[in-house]
Amino acid sequence: MSAKHHGSCLCGVVRFEIDGGFESFYLCHCEHCRKDTGSAHAANLFSPTAVLEWLAGRDKVTSFTLPSTRHTKSFCSICGSALPNVQMNGAVLAVPAGSLDSDVSIKPSAHIFASSRANWDFELEKVPMLERLPV
Ligand SMILES: [Zn+2]
Ligand SMILES: [Zn+2]
Repeated sequence: MSAKHHGSCLCGVVRFEIDGGFESFYLCHCEHCRKDTGSAHAANLFSPTAVLEWLAGRDKVTSFTLPSTRHTKSFCSICGSALPNVQMNGAVLAVPAGSLDSDVSIKPSAHIFASSRANWDFELEKVPMLERLPV
């Protein structure tokens, strides 16, 4: 499957292109992803075949691997936004879904590490859905 996706960080210094399709899309609720994102879960797309090309700001891309784990992330050293990274010795490209500016062609495959959910991360579909800031 051939597809091109574009993405960038919040400050716009880092821009990238991904050539190829995604195989899976996981919402990970593990304790590392919660801490890493500051949110309920990470939302990462995975591909064993897609190719990542940095279009701008490559020198601002920083990576961190939590010692003694496979938890790794890349982020913009200016604004801290999550960015794609190559994992498992180059076997898999992981792309934070929120870093993409183009539409994602697949739906999330699964919530994973659901047993590690935060104590407020239940029945969120029942929370009021406001179009903008509360007034
Ligand atoms: Zn940035
Ligand atoms: Zn995780």
